[in-house]
Amino acid sequence: MKLNCKKCGNEIYLLHLTEEQKFEIWGMVKQDLKLFAIKKIVDDFGLSHKEAKIIVSHINPDYGTCNRCENDELDSENIECIKCGAFNFNFKEPVFNSEFCSHLEYKLDFDSLGMENVVGYWCDGVDCYPYDLKSLSKERIKKDKMIVTRAWIGKGGQGIYEMNIKFGKQSINNYINGLSLIDCIPDGAHKTWIKIEPEKNKIQISLK
Ligand SMILES: [Zn+2]
Ligand SMILES: [Zn+2]
Repeated sequence: MKLNCKKCGNEIYLLHLTEEQKFEIWGMVKQDLKLFAIKKIVDDFGLSHKEAKIIVSHINPDYGTCNRCENDELDSENIECIKCGAFNFNFKEPVFNSEFCSHLEYKLDFDSLGMENVVGYWCDGVDCYPYDLKSLSKERIKKDKMIVTRAWIGKGGQGIYEMNIKFGKQSINNYINGLSLIDCIPDGAHKTWIKIEPEKNKIQISLK
């Protein structure tokens, strides 16, 4: 199906994207990898470079906000802006997002782990874009029960670690229902939910 954007006049293909394709394309756009997003659309749907480029230019950077004007009240996925007429692919971000990742970052207290080799370590960020963007789909979370991403950890907070985030019952449930994961970060003095191997640059987090 095609439609015309009332703002720029371009013809836009409405793609039927699976959840995995949606997160891959959305994640590439968010990470400023628009050329990769265009290539994926060309490869997956057999469209021309120009057609794919038009699609990518209509993906809005933030859910709810129009890609052409200041209207921030867009509330469905494929929507025409009532203010400027621009068509928007308005993809909702997953609940594994930058807000959750910064909460996780602040909860990582390595001094309390009782491991001499990580005393003085701190985390300077958790990447909310996993290595495999497809792993953000609800189906994959149900099946794999984990997300693998990067985190910056060390004395200067700058060593690059592979972070394996394991999902428990509550976090799987929240993820599937689109609820925040912040409450699924364990608390308390016993930091058994954090397993770090500094010699391998690996860390494992177990959510509730
Ligand atoms: Zn347009
Ligand atoms: Zn608009």
